[in-house]
Amino acid sequence: MGGEQSYSLEEIVGNGLCMGCGICRSVLGPEVLTHTDEDDGLERPREVRLMTDAETQTLNAICPGINVSFPDRDPGAEHDAMWGNIVDIVQGFAADPDVRFRAATGGALTALALHILESGKADYIVHLAADPERPMLSKTQRSFTADDVIAASGSRYAATAPLVDIQSALDDGRPFVFVGKPCDITALSNLARIDPRVDALCRYKLTLVCGGFSELSKFQELLDEWDLREADLARFSYRGYGCPGPTFAEARDGRRGETTYRRLWAEEKSWRNFYRCKICPDAIGLSADIAALDIWDGGTPVGEDEGWNGFIVRTEAGRDLLEDAVAAGAVTLDGELAIADLDNFQPHQTKKRHAVRARYAAMAEAGLPFPRTEDPGLDVVSLAEDSDAYSLEKSGTQERLSRGNHLR
Ligand SMILES: Cc1cc2nc3c(=O)[nH]c(=O)nc-3n(C[C@H](O)[C@H](O)[C@H](O)COP(=O)(O)OP(=O)(O)OC[C@H]3O[C@@H](n4cnc5c(N)ncnc54)[C@H](O)[C@@H]3O)c2cc1C
Repeated sequence: MGGEQSYSLEEIVGNGLCMGCGICRSVLGPEVLTHTDEDDGLERPREVRLMTDAETQTLNAICPGINVSFPDRDPGAEHDAMWGNIVDIVQGFAADPDVRFRAATGGALTALALHILESGKADYIVHLAADPERPMLSKTQRSFTADDVIAASGSRYAATAPLVDIQSALDDGRPFVFVGKPCDITALSNLARIDPRVDALCRYKLTLVCGGFSELSKFQELLDEWDLREADLARFSYRGYGCPGPTFAEARDGRRGETTYRRLWAEEKSWRNFYRCKICPDAIGLSADIAALDIWDGGTPVGEDEGWNGFIVRTEAGRDLLEDAVAAGAVTLDGELAIADLDNFQPHQTKKRHAVRARYAAMAEAGLPFPRTEDPGLDVVSLAEDSDAYSLEKSGTQERLSRGNHLR
């Protein structure tokens, strides 16, 4: 961070770089930061009082919106410029068919979390579950039991703040495991550089490959279509109960609305992904021990299936965990994968990693803050500055910025 430009909270939030993960609120505390609940679902931090220079420095060190540093290479890992540290890439699923069915894809993350609790590798899992008060939104949860872990399975496509209680987890001093999006893992890895308790207590960092999350209005439109009101909801499931499973809502009086994943994504224009997701340099979990992903040919499911995850094992610790989970009968593996498979399964991820530096150039020219990236892989895979593709990406961002479309 030495000598780097420092951004104020207002600059970060006001320029669409905040993903609402909650780490700044947790670390700096409620006497410094609160948040506003907004219609789009993102919990934006807000100053209670003017931050001191030291607090602003801490914010700049931990905020994943502006600081995306790639860790040193794990000595046991191959390094791929596009896909990062790779110890192994395999495919599989949760051995328990109920877990596999209930989860987002094949239940990889849930099965690993269950195995961690069962084997005593950590005391609890920090992750997200549906907010019982507002089931379209999520709440951070400490899961101590198998039931808690299973209840938190599934992908949640609205904004989330899984790190909002991380400080109290560190203060409690008990070993835990964190499951979150790649940006959440970046935030925790950033914190580890200034707080040694993260590495001492967080046994594993598990993540999902992430295509971005949407403003709540995308899902409120579904409720309108189903003639349901958010206030009436008892449940809202974005994904799971099959792979990919339906998106459905249930009202307390039993009324229900449901749509398919294919239909949800067929209307891709109606997704209102946050700007920071569109310029994300690491939506693939470069700093995690294991990243779980969908493995559909070309990136799109042809229909429902039983659910298979890819596992990108990034560290030796991740490999040991997966081997243990397989030996204990929690995870079933049924195939090896290669980098070329990842390119095939995740074309949107490779496109974005090629493009982000061109998008940052447009932001820099406009005098706007943009994510700082220490990522040797990104240096290699970024579009060449003299290429047509680079100019196209840069001018596309310039146009977006001129319309103010980066702010939400
Ligand atoms: C916003 C979003 C975008 C995604 N985009 C892609 C993509 O582009 N390509 C791809 O291959 N996969 C994507 N996924 C991941 C995919 O949907 C599965 O989550 C992944 O394959 C793991 O499946 P699983 O069955 O192991 O998960 P599960 O066993 O169901 O476990 C999911 C875990 O993730 C946590 N979680 C769910 N939603 C969130 C969230 N929003 N923020 C933080 N933690 C969360 C849950 O608490 C749970 O612990 C995305 C997921 C999300 C949430």
